[in-house]
Amino acid sequence: MAERALVVGCGVSGLTSAIALAEAGFQVTIWTRDLPPRTTSNVAGAIWYPYKVEPLERVAAWARRTYVALAEIAREPRSGVRLERGVELLPPGLGERGAEFRAAAPDLRELAPHLVPPHFERGFEFSAPVCEMPLYLAYLLERFERAGGSLQQRTLASLDEALAAAPLVVNCVGLAARELLGDPHMRPIRGQVVRVERGAVERFLLDDYDPRGVTYVIPRSNDCVLGGTTEEGREDLTPDEGDTRAILARCRELAPGLDEARVLSVAVGLRPGRTEVRLEGERRGGSRLIHNYGHGGAGVTLSWGCARDVVALARNLGASVQ
Ligand SMILES: Cc1cc2nc3c(=O)[nH]c(=O)nc-3n(C[C@H](O)[C@H](O)[C@H](O)COP(=O)(O)OP(=O)(O)OC[C@H]3O[C@@H](n4cnc5c(N)ncnc54)[C@H](O)[C@@H]3O)c2cc1C
Repeated sequence: MAERALVVGCGVSGLTSAIALAEAGFQVTIWTRDLPPRTTSNVAGAIWYPYKVEPLERVAAWARRTYVALAEIAREPRSGVRLERGVELLPPGLGERGAEFRAAAPDLRELAPHLVPPHFERGFEFSAPVCEMPLYLAYLLERFERAGGSLQQRTLASLDEALAAAPLVVNCVGLAARELLGDPHMRPIRGQVVRVERGAVERFLLDDYDPRGVTYVIPRSNDCVLGGTTEEGREDLTPDEGDTRAILARCRELAPGLDEARVLSVAVGLRPGRTEVRLEGERRGGSRLIHNYGHGGAGVTLSWGCARDVVALARNLGASVQ
């Protein structure tokens, strides 16, 4: 008989872990306080590229595996995932920064100097998966159900409730690990994004190092997501009009094709920042508990790599002694 597993959380980390377990033969249930579209995962841009996440060596490995998985998913037209071509720009003095991530893209090439925009030193062109989160999360939910998974909306006051109900529990509560586990290493990293008409934008543009703020333009099927902000410790979810204006100004500098694009909506989310991603297993009484949270600004980018490790941990921690 299939072993039971309980995944807590229904953001991209919970859903991807749940699918990986269900497709590996576990009988999986998700318990979650919020369902899409009410998760942080819904707010993400979401482009495959690590941001505000540690430790870099594990991050690079998880990101590489996720790139391959998302590129495969992009072949399914209704998944909400597409491979988009674009450019990452580096200001002077950063050398090869980010090389370990970009190397995941098979079509990576450096821009010739005359094609690099003013004020930047280098530009790297590559294809990256872009996930339209409302569509992609719906795809993940459907794939989870197809794999035999079930879901219950339920708020936990303690993980003990889950551990009492199943021999294997996977904790994917994101920022809520702060309250649920009293994890002192968790911190919110507030981010704001502006959704505009697609305009004449042909490719994504990333500039993580603008001293005025991280700047990105991510074209999607019918619109374009512009970012962003990175505020540690601030927790209100009300969009800031000053931030919206600043994001629009920076993104229009990078992509003049946006000049006429109308603003469609503005969203704010709290990235689940942590000193480093917590992906590890432990035994609690007769049950196994696997933690998979703290992905900062890279939860989508690391999702499938982390989910594969969750399955490996579920197997390596051994069967329940209950
Ligand atoms: C503006 C912005 C832009 C971003 N852009 C990108 C990007 O381009 N690329 C990228 O890779 N990442 C991006 N991110 C980061 C990404 O969104 C996060 O890393 C990711 O969503 C984290 O997913 P998660 O599943 O761990 O957490 P969440 O999506 O927060 O899900 C947590 C789940 O746990 C549940 N939960 C919490 N507490 C309880 C409880 N007590 N009981 C039961 N359930 C509970 C919640 O209801 C929810 O379902 C961005 C984030 C923001 C804010």
